[in-house]
Amino acid sequence: MKLKVCGMKYQDNIAQVAALQPDYLGFIFYEKTPRHFDTKIPDLPKSIKKVGVFVNEDLNTVIEKVNKFDLQAVQLHGEEAPYYCSILRNTKLISKPLDIIKVFSVKEGFNFKVLEPYEDLCDYYLFDTKGKLPGGNGYTFDWSLLEAYPSTKPFFLSGGIGLEQVEALKAFKASSASKYCYALDVNSKFETEPGLKNSASLREFKMKLSPNKDMQNYNVNDKGYYGEFGGAYIPEMLYPNVEELRQNYLKIMGEPDFQKEFNKLLKDYVGRPSPLYFAKRLSEKYNTKIYLKREDLNHTGAHKINNTIGQILMAKRLGKHRIIAETGAGQHGVATATVCALMGMECIVYMGEIDIARQAPNVARMKMLGATVVPALSGSRTLKDATNEAIRDWINNPVDTHYIIGSAIGPHPYPDMVTRFQAVISEEIKWQLKAQEGRENPDYVVACIGGGSNAAGTYYHYLHEESVGIIAVEAAGLGIDSGESAATSVLGKEGIIHGCKTLLMQTEDGQITEPYSISAGLDYPGVGPMHAHLSKTGRAEFLSITDSDAMEAGLELSKLEGIIPAIETSHAFAIFKHKTFKPDDVVVMSLSGRGDKDLQNYIDYFKF
Ligand SMILES: *Cc1c(COP(=O)(O)O)cnc(C)c1O
Repeated sequence: MKLKVCGMKYQDNIAQVAALQPDYLGFIFYEKTPRHFDTKIPDLPKSIKKVGVFVNEDLNTVIEKVNKFDLQAVQLHGEEAPYYCSILRNTKLISKPLDIIKVFSVKEGFNFKVLEPYEDLCDYYLFDTKGKLPGGNGYTFDWSLLEAYPSTKPFFLSGGIGLEQVEALKAFKASSASKYCYALDVNSKFETEPGLKNSASLREFKMKLSPNKDMQNYNVNDKGYYGEFGGAYIPEMLYPNVEELRQNYLKIMGEPDFQKEFNKLLKDYVGRPSPLYFAKRLSEKYNTKIYLKREDLNHTGAHKINNTIGQILMAKRLGKHRIIAETGAGQHGVATATVCALMGMECIVYMGEIDIARQAPNVARMKMLGATVVPALSGSRTLKDATNEAIRDWINNPVDTHYIIGSAIGPHPYPDMVTRFQAVISEEIKWQLKAQEGRENPDYVVACIGGGSNAAGTYYHYLHEESVGIIAVEAAGLGIDSGESAATSVLGKEGIIHGCKTLLMQTEDGQITEPYSISAGLDYPGVGPMHAHLSKTGRAEFLSITDSDAMEAGLELSKLEGIIPAIETSHAFAIFKHKTFKPDDVVVMSLSGRGDKDLQNYIDYFKF
């Protein structure tokens, strides 16, 4: 069943609730309710339909609001007659398709005969509880009345639905009364005041009612999918390589010898466990409890090394002696060159020609570590072109070469394998938080998302803990609407990139859009399939942060805590300007990397 959240009022709250990906958001244009909407609707993901709610409103006003707010549906909550629906349906003044939802209020009984004249004139019915005011009364009616529903038109079920109805709703769903129930409509039961929705309770509600097991499973399934995302969309020539990896990766990772070597290197070479640090001054400033997971203290300065250590051990066990990788800003290239030096393996890193010019220090590092850096000369000469070159190399060298992908992306089993190597982050958070706070579960885990590997590792052990809110931070670049952005969850549509089905920024005809962010590590046109699924199901809340907000947040962390973060990481810290936490909330931030590599960017931006 779909979900409609009705009675939205406040800008920030609309964005917060939209991040949970409901199917409909309702805006009430009826002046006599405290939820009356009269401001601006912020940009919403395209998958969410905007519904205008009206009560016996003048038709011209309805048409004006539909056009002004770009509504996809109107909900008629008064005594609107059939001819009213008919005019609305046929007017040429509205250029787009408009769904009409006619509301009927139910008390003790209901005479279904009243529906008949509307059968051909509206798209949905909505059954609400009869109360003093139209909508938002907080009482349910007896849903078993719907056993007698004579129509086949899909309907919305409304009236006092809240968390306490979850069990009753499950029973309703299993009964014949719900046969044509298309959506649930919620409102006042999720409010802290009229018009202000509690997104944490809405998230819980959504999760508890998740329709199938697959949707409730945030791990990969045995076919390589997270819900509808993932899989392995690869040219036939790559099949043997990917299949070899798929058949072996879990087996190898489970071997005690592998575990031992991996853990020893993480400890002695990478410097794990990375500290979980209570950020006192930052916490005071935002009046909540903020912990920093210090991936910036790892060898090579970020979380990426967790994955490259894991993959080089995997490659060794698969009998490979040549390593290839792609890199954008050079961070993954450096982490790969590092582990190749460590293991004495040949290392070839593909990098766009433009990026080579932009990232000279990292190119020098890779060379010093013994890697060969090969420029990608095609296309836009950036990350995606480097990836294409790496894939080409792999096809030509199927036997002796392992391709180390740098994020939770690529064909199955890469997203899952990378996630499992990075999962050491949340594994540590659990015991570290227990030691400091007396509990393993924080209220929120927060991470920035490029392809999504530090995020996947930070969320991994919390994915199925309902009490833990997951916050994903994307780069909005110059702004979501600017054309210069990397906010995939808002701008992306389903598509295939680098071997997997995921959310992807693309043009109408499916060409991948050039992403933009001030941080090279977030400048990717897609997100890993796990994150696409977390976004689609609403399990994670996605926020997008502009360049300028990120830069300010990076400066603030430096001044308040003496930690200069990577600009990618700075994005995550900008959420405190946009979201308020409770004083006793425990918020764990993935501090994915240190800012040394970004110093010139910070200097140019702040003119130090
Ligand atoms: C590469 C990088 C990122 C983005 O990559 P994910 O795979 O999304 O984690 C984030 N932070 C830092 C410091 C990075 O180097």
